[in-house]
Amino acid sequence: MGAYEEIKARVENDGVEFVYAMFVEMHGKPCAKLVPVEALETVMNEGAGFAGFAAGPIGQDPSSPDILAIPDPASYTQLPWQPNVAALQCDPTVEGELWPYAPRVILRRALDDLASRGLVFNAGVEAEYSLVDRNPDGSIVVADERDVDEQPCYDAKGLTRMLPHLTEVSRNLNAMGWGNYANDHEDANGQFEQNWQYSDALTTADRLVLFRLMIHTMAARDGRYATFMPKPFADKTGNGLHAHSSLWSLEGEPLFVGGDDDPKGLGLSEPAYQFAAGLIEHAPSLVAILCPIVNSYKRMGVGAPASGATWAPAYAAYGGNNRTQMIRVPEADRLELRLADGAANPYLMFAAILACGLDGIDRGADPGQPNEDNLFKLSAEEIAERGIVTLPPTLLHAAENLAACDVLEKGLGMTPDGSYRDYFVKTKKAEFMAHHHQVTQAEIDQYLTLF
Ligand SMILES: [Mg+2]
Repeated sequence: MGAYEEIKARVENDGVEFVYAMFVEMHGKPCAKLVPVEALETVMNEGAGFAGFAAGPIGQDPSSPDILAIPDPASYTQLPWQPNVAALQCDPTVEGELWPYAPRVILRRALDDLASRGLVFNAGVEAEYSLVDRNPDGSIVVADERDVDEQPCYDAKGLTRMLPHLTEVSRNLNAMGWGNYANDHEDANGQFEQNWQYSDALTTADRLVLFRLMIHTMAARDGRYATFMPKPFADKTGNGLHAHSSLWSLEGEPLFVGGDDDPKGLGLSEPAYQFAAGLIEHAPSLVAILCPIVNSYKRMGVGAPASGATWAPAYAAYGGNNRTQMIRVPEADRLELRLADGAANPYLMFAAILACGLDGIDRGADPGQPNEDNLFKLSAEEIAERGIVTLPPTLLHAAENLAACDVLEKGLGMTPDGSYRDYFVKTKKAEFMAHHHQVTQAEIDQYLTLF
């Protein structure tokens, strides 16, 4: 059965009226055309047409030929919150070729290369978000006005007040077959996390795009805003996107599980440690992809809220079940990279993680012994003595590191005009400078009459 026949049967069976033909650009913004099923055959065979430059950074300008986004039938998902619509994630093409500026194409290519090595990349994400209201002046406040406790993490009262929202999200996750297994009030007022089972990295990336769209839709329906912004409030914990990674054989054998004789003591395999070493070594560049906006760098650092943890790493280090590390090993089967935040584009994130991790494996890199300390309590001197690298303080620093990282240049691939890495760096430097040129209220408050 061809792709069109397969999807036609599914929409008929599900009573679907429209499909979203979807793709994302560099920022991970969900873009779609609403296609009535009567027009499905053309879209399945020829793709949905977009003027790419209008969507955002995706390597196009107004003189460029159309993007034709070809639906991936494996991504078909009926949306339980609007059941007359199903989503299809698409692989953008231009003039008949997969478009190397499209994040989903970048990840797909990386996963195809991995498959040629006989391996599969499985991944899960922990998506945190905040529910807020907007004041008439544009500023934001926590949506639940009673959510003011100093240490609200896991608070059952706050959870209960948002039960209608959380229940609907949970039901939707399960109706899509994602396997919701936890929902909690996170560390900041107004902050929540809802978890679903891991999959292959492409499926998890597709799902995160839909999850964010769903959360925004639910919030808008309830008259609020949802945000995945890394640091919506200067004085509250930010929104992270912890990413769990593991490699498997094509036959389904886990590659990261070690034995009891593991000399580093975490029970991981040698390739898992090498993968971790690659992530640690390239972290100062990798962070540009995983924490990709100016606001990202306001989430990171050592300053701790009442719970005693920023939940964001300050240093490129790893350890066991220790939340002060960039890489935590919660169980001996995967690596939890705690670096990414809610602004990360999941396709670029997984392609970049894979490139850095595989580089560690290919070079047989050693991450050293796992750290057992609370890194947030060590002085700068103690951190330096241990040879632990501090993560860059701004997007500009991170982008400059990335500009020199050949491993990520190779991992993100080439475009007709040079490497995607260079395009990303250029875009992010411009984004940083646009913010840097603004005069903020904080500057006026500090400097207006100081001199
Ligand atoms: Mg969390």
